[in-house]
Amino acid sequence: MKKLIKNYPIARPHITHTERRHVLEVLSSGSLSLGPKYAIFEKEFAKKIGTKFACTVSSGTAGLHLAMIAANIQPGDEVITSPFSFVASANCILYMNATPVFVDIDSLTYNMNPDKIEAAITSKTKAILVVHIFGQTSDMTRIMQIAKKHNLKIIEDACESVCATHKGKKAGTFGETAVFAFYPNKQMTTGEGGMITTNNEKIYKLCGSLRNQGRAENMQWLDHERLGYNYRMDEVSAALGISQLARLDKMIEQRRIIAGWYNEYLKPYKELVQIPQVSPENTHTWFVYVVTLSHAKINRDKLITMLSRLGVSTKPYLPSIHLFSFYKNRFGYKKGDFPISEKISHSALALPFYIGLKKGDIKYIVKTLIDTIKSYEK
Ligand SMILES: *Cc1c(COP(=O)(O)O)cnc(C)c1O
Repeated sequence: MKKLIKNYPIARPHITHTERRHVLEVLSSGSLSLGPKYAIFEKEFAKKIGTKFACTVSSGTAGLHLAMIAANIQPGDEVITSPFSFVASANCILYMNATPVFVDIDSLTYNMNPDKIEAAITSKTKAILVVHIFGQTSDMTRIMQIAKKHNLKIIEDACESVCATHKGKKAGTFGETAVFAFYPNKQMTTGEGGMITTNNEKIYKLCGSLRNQGRAENMQWLDHERLGYNYRMDEVSAALGISQLARLDKMIEQRRIIAGWYNEYLKPYKELVQIPQVSPENTHTWFVYVVTLSHAKINRDKLITMLSRLGVSTKPYLPSIHLFSFYKNRFGYKKGDFPISEKISHSALALPFYIGLKKGDIKYIVKTLIDTIKSYEK
């Protein structure tokens, strides 16, 4: 008989019978886009986050693009942001022909280090695009103070941190706009999809027009009053979003439990593996579970290959944006420009993390990880 090898992917969406039923209802309704679902999803999402408005879009990246337009970012402007992020948060600044100005990160939370922001501000700085990485917010107390002092707009990339809080206040409620994403590996999914939240009605209406070919809001199909895009979310995605949102608190709770098991099993191996740190001012909503390898001898990329042979998928999380070839060629960045970000990029490892993993699975994954590191040492 063939031996059963366990196989753990990095991430997996959690889809139940309720989601399937809602999606099938949409398919039978005949209304697959611009129907009733997206507006319901927007209302319920805004209510969940605690903003006045929410605007569905086709992806988090599309949402970031529209948030940049809404902030009136002009060619040549500078926008301060984090190098330790998914590439979309810096790319959206380039969509405007503006310049991303990176600020190195804090070595515990991996979010932008507020101590380093003011040195990066110039007369061209227009905004700070704050990224809340891995499920925990940046230090919004400090960042809001700096933004106020220098009259800078705040745009939040909350794509990885839905419902995370800083001093009890949710991600997405700090900035002029905030953007969320619902790709299948996020805490909740719509397949592809995203959401912009804001308390500003003008921005909400502008984003609604921009995502829909620039159509005038009151004349619907008759006039195009500005250059727009097709960044609409379809009804199937919106229906999926509504049912995922209804279960979001429960899903986050399950992610917390799984993260807790990892913390527990990894605790005895501090010399080899550093577990994620949460600031006492924050609550974490666990987009991913990322450890850093503290042992100097371990070759992270070789470890990834060895673990994948044992059925445990892991991933380098995340590479620093400034060292992507495109950014190096365009801006002349080099190794050493943002040392903390680079150090974390070099040693961070995302472990399998999704709802459905049991305590025994986590025990197995941790044992496999530790055994592999120890065998590699020899
Ligand atoms: C997921 C993500 C996005 C948006 O991704 P899409 O795939 O376009 O939905 C943006 N920024 C960060 C930090 C992300 O993790």
